[in-house]
Amino acid sequence: MSDPTRGQTARIISILRSPAARKISFTLGVWRIDALAFEEIASAIALGDIEVVVAPAKGGGEAEYNFKKDLIVVPDVTYGAKITQQGAIIHECVHAFVDMENFTGQAESANEAAAYLAGMLYILHTGIVMPPIITPVGNLAAGIAKTIIGQPGAAVPKMFETDLRRAIASEPFYKRQGVTFRSPDHADGLWRVRALRGRTDIDMVKLPPKTRLA
Ligand SMILES: [Zn+2]
Repeated sequence: MSDPTRGQTARIISILRSPAARKISFTLGVWRIDALAFEEIASAIALGDIEVVVAPAKGGGEAEYNFKKDLIVVPDVTYGAKITQQGAIIHECVHAFVDMENFTGQAESANEAAAYLAGMLYILHTGIVMPPIITPVGNLAAGIAKTIIGQPGAAVPKMFETDLRRAIASEPFYKRQGVTFRSPDHADGLWRVRALRGRTDIDMVKLPPKTRLA
């Protein structure tokens, strides 16, 4: 029997390296979300510094990123077949990138804003007709994504960033998790899983801020 985790690991890496993902290119605050960022996450997954787990998401969403354990969680073995699910995987991988970058003093609503924009840009880049969007955050993110698409490296205008962060902070799903406009982000860097490389658990350390992975 095939290993479901291995299949989903391969799927996520291929989404990160797809043309639609590689065309994403914008900056929001301190983060530059582009092909290089997605390649860093793809490499970290390939190396095992970020693991893919098939399990129900604890936070109540479909997929999630666990910043403490550096895990991308997807609910089942088929997740990622649909375009909206691929957008959600890109969303979670932005959280992984923010965790890896580990800039201090950032807001979690800004992390979410960057993740929403990347997910929307991914869907727009595939050329597939955008499925109906039901949430205010999704609608706003889609509108902003359409204004910055096709401008590599474009900085998300502060006014748009603020609007999107406000919408996120007022969404019940995020309110329940204690997210406010200014609540601090939880990025803490990646563990280097030295245990998997012939060392012991005692050697596991979180990478200091802005450390590049080998
Ligand atoms: Zn998110």
